Amino acid sequence: MLSTIDVIDAYLTGRPDTDFSTVTGRDLESFGERVREFSAHQTPEIDADQHPIYLGGWPSANFALLGGDMILSSLLYSGQVLVRDPIADWFSVEQYRVEHMMSARPGFHPSGEDAETRIRRTRAFLTTVVPQIMRMRPLIEAGIVVPVPSEQLYFQERGRIDLLRRDIETKLSIDPVAYATRFSAEEIATEDNVRGFFAMAPGPEPAPQIHKALRHGVRYFAREFTLADRYGVTYTAPFAHERYLCQEGVSPIVGTSNRVVEAILRSGLPVFHNLTPEVIRDVHDDDTFGEFRSTLHQVYQGTPVEDPAAATAYVRDQENALLRPLINEGEKAASRGLLARLGASLSQNKFAIAAALATDTIVGTLGAATAITVAGTFADDAIKSRRGSGPVRIWSALVAHTQRASDEVTRVQHAPAAVSIPGTPWGIPREPGMSISVTAGQLIWDADPRALADTDEEERSRLGVYGPCRCGSGQKFKFCCAGLR
Ligand SMILES: [Zn+2]
Repeated sequence: MLSTIDVIDAYLTGRPDTDFSTVTGRDLESFGERVREFSAHQTPEIDADQHPIYLGGWPSANFALLGGDMILSSLLYSGQVLVRDPIADWFSVEQYRVEHMMSARPGFHPSGEDAETRIRRTRAFLTTVVPQIMRMRPLIEAGIVVPVPSEQLYFQERGRIDLLRRDIETKLSIDPVAYATRFSAEEIATEDNVRGFFAMAPGPEPAPQIHKALRHGVRYFAREFTLADRYGVTYTAPFAHERYLCQEGVSPIVGTSNRVVEAILRSGLPVFHNLTPEVIRDVHDDDTFGEFRSTLHQVYQGTPVEDPAAATAYVRDQENALLRPLINEGEKAASRGLLARLGASLSQNKFAIAAALATDTIVGTLGAATAITVAGTFADDAIKSRRGSGPVRIWSALVAHTQRASDEVTRVQHAPAAVSIPGTPWGIPREPGMSISVTAGQLIWDADPRALADTDEEERSRLGVYGPCRCGSGQKFKFCCAGLR
């Protein structure tokens, strides 16, 4: 078995139900057990030669819901993309042993919830998310997208994550009010399904509360960064806030014992329109894109990192000589080649790639405890293949675009601030008041209950255990959720 898709297939095969809308509560429970068994023994097939990446700040965490042109285009330029397995995480027990925001996905078994309520929510989640995962099946089966469970790793690595989180916080010297001016609350991801949405007490001194919000964002970032690091893939920041945390938080930590230079490509990579998982799979290893990826890596590997000026000059020269012709080819492919035949077209948008590079002398000079947190995995077997010769990419970023997370992920709901006072950080009222104000935010709505059967409460009270179950299966309670705790 390669992914949770196989677990879903195996489970639904031979059942009369073709989806999760009508299976009984007991059966959903046993499906969850199979998912946990699978997660515990899964070995994801990550190929270091493909220079795999993790797209932080939502795209990898919500890959099934990706729908924007930029991230889908970026899959053509990436050999392999590590993503989070939403089904594995929904059913994980570890999610209840690490800190989460109140607004995080509740998972299969939040405490204090009765069986019918939690099964109903699980059913709503599965009927919403599973079809989206199936849409991504061509990319998963081709090994371009590799789903992994994350909550268990967050639990196992909680010590390191906490250390990294604290180290990053000490490096971020920004004043909270300046931070709130630079980034809107909506830009700060704190959970896979939540950005912003911070509860704030009105008052003349908002800084401590903004600082607290920042810390939630750093925790989310530290988890994703550690996940990427553990699997030996390069953390990639698609949006400004994550890039800021990489530049100001991660680079200085690694840089305490090593030089880190940032290499930025000047070329705009074309963003394609109408890409589907099938089209991406079909053209991913087309000559143009395959060559582009391997040349891109050659450029990075040869970068002299001792001297930032020399690094910039080198990247610019190599880019002009090697990458530009390939990018032009890619654009042609969209207008008259394979991409065009498959229905994709060139959009007006472009993006570029930035990467922070450090030499692998890192391995020999691990002195500071702080550097170990980020660079510690360089000593792990899993990561050895990433080293080879030349510099190591600490992180990379997609830059020079105007896309936001909500442009790239579907099912995002915007929530404006309930009260927003112009001229104050995040609109937090300066006048002390009794009521809490909530900043602007975004939530992903991925447990749509509308497809579920409603419960006729009158019938339920009349028929008792033989009445309809409240979990939305349309079955009798006695044969559905009775006995579940
Ligand atoms: Zn039920």
